[in-house]
Amino acid sequence: MLNLPGIYIEGAWHHGAQPLTVINPSTGQSLAEVAGGDGDAVACAATAAQAAFAGWSRTTGAHRGELLHRIARGVEARRERLIELQSRNNGKPLAESAMDVDDVVATFEYYAGLAQALDRQQDQPLALPSEDFSARLRREPCGVVGLIVPWNFPMVTTAWKLAPALAAGCCVVLKPSEVTPLAELELARIIADCGLPDGVFNLVCGTGLAVGAPLTSDPRIAKVSFTGSNAVGVQVMQRAAETVKGVSLELGGKSSLLVLESAELELALELACAGGFFNAGQMCSATSRVLVADSLYDAFVDGVKARAAAIRVGDPFAGDSDMGPLVNQAQYQRVLGHIERGMHSGARLLCGGKPLEHAAGYFIEPTVFAEVPLDSALWREEIFGPVLCVRRVASEAEAVALANDSEFGLVASVVGADPAAAERVADQLQAGLVWINAPQVIFPQAAWGGYKQSSLGRELGPWGLAAFQEVKHVVRAV
Ligand code: NAD
Repeated sequence: MLNLPGIYIEGAWHHGAQPLTVINPSTGQSLAEVAGGDGDAVACAATAAQAAFAGWSRTTGAHRGELLHRIARGVEARRERLIELQSRNNGKPLAESAMDVDDVVATFEYYAGLAQALDRQQDQPLALPSEDFSARLRREPCGVVGLIVPWNFPMVTTAWKLAPALAAGCCVVLKPSEVTPLAELELARIIADCGLPDGVFNLVCGTGLAVGAPLTSDPRIAKVSFTGSNAVGVQVMQRAAETVKGVSLELGGKSSLLVLESAELELALELACAGGFFNAGQMCSATSRVLVADSLYDAFVDGVKARAAAIRVGDPFAGDSDMGPLVNQAQYQRVLGHIERGMHSGARLLCGGKPLEHAAGYFIEPTVFAEVPLDSALWREEIFGPVLCVRRVASEAEAVALANDSEFGLVASVVGADPAAAERVADQLQAGLVWINAPQVIFPQAAWGGYKQSSLGRELGPWGLAAFQEVKHVVRAV
């Protein structure tokens, strides 16, 4: 079995003392052992990053942009390898892993452009209501940052944090998910070849307790950008409070797809299945609640049942697989537990609801429940698996009210052929991103993040860059 170093500090790879066994979720077999780190490794990484910050923070945006372009080109050059590692370790079909790699390239390219634009924007004068003073505005990197990412879109989540952090001039300590470090390690090797000064980019693989917790506490870390579960996000915020660190959080969701009266049925079915079953439903943005206008409900239920049952679940490397396994045994059992409780909640199972027969890995059939009670865990909690809940709604107002009745507010989808109605509904939804008649397209230029307990702050776009910057005003008496 492969034995990989799991620590990269100051330009050198190291084997840490905390072994992580990485598995292939399609088979349940071990793929590699990664020698991860602990609090000592975090301390070394933070020291190296702090030492590198003095020089890196003073480089021009143009220079940092050139290095980000280089990373994007390096990722493109190793595209096939990254796709393979992502599918092997995470279980996504190859086509989904390819989308992830393309997203990583687009994100590095976009922030390369923003870094280059920074030089022009620096030292802008600020109009003051007094002629006795002049003022200029600077945007400076906030310091050494800790980036903590989950396993569902590992490289993508990393790119959304790493590219703007480097563009801003921050030095970084990255902690990949202990479940999916393989593509992240390859990404780190690509970055290591791109000529960043030693200590600017550091990585420590390990568990949340061994690495994530000390990273969150370390006084040298100015900011933590975290994506993961709400339970851990709250712990990160609490720990970060001790040293008054900045925190960005991207957490869970329980999002809705609203099928309006005017919706074209086939489009609604296609978007409902994509929103529920892409990445085996392991998406913070899964639109796992589907609210269907009364007039379309019966046809929708028949259609979604047929479409979900036709989804080909299987080996991510087989060209004809639409959906792979769940990421590991813990997630598989968690989702099966949700389904089991759902069966006793009063909801009606339309299809699926069980593991895929004769499969060694963590495969679950696409599952659809109808008439899901509003107070059930199925309706209220994030399931993070291939489970859709469908409900009939009597009016647009009821659909909006049910969609907004959640502690989360990440995204929403609206399907309807009447543009005025679709836009009106979108405006009323408490969600950071609303798609109308569109799949879940994400552009680095547009913000990512949600309302309520889904997020604190925004990633992507200029907001993603601002999250790693401090604002400084220099005011001078003239
Ligand atoms: P998780 O919270 O278990 O772990 C996320 C990361 O935090 C991992 O790297 C983990 O090792 C680390 N961690 C665990 N305990 C820690 C601690 N005490 N201190 C610091 N770090 C710690 O989440 P997961 O199971 O990997 O991912 C699934 C969750 O992520 C879901 O809830 C999903 O909604 C959320 N998610 C949100 C977004 C978004 O953009 N809003 C995107 C992807 C995933």
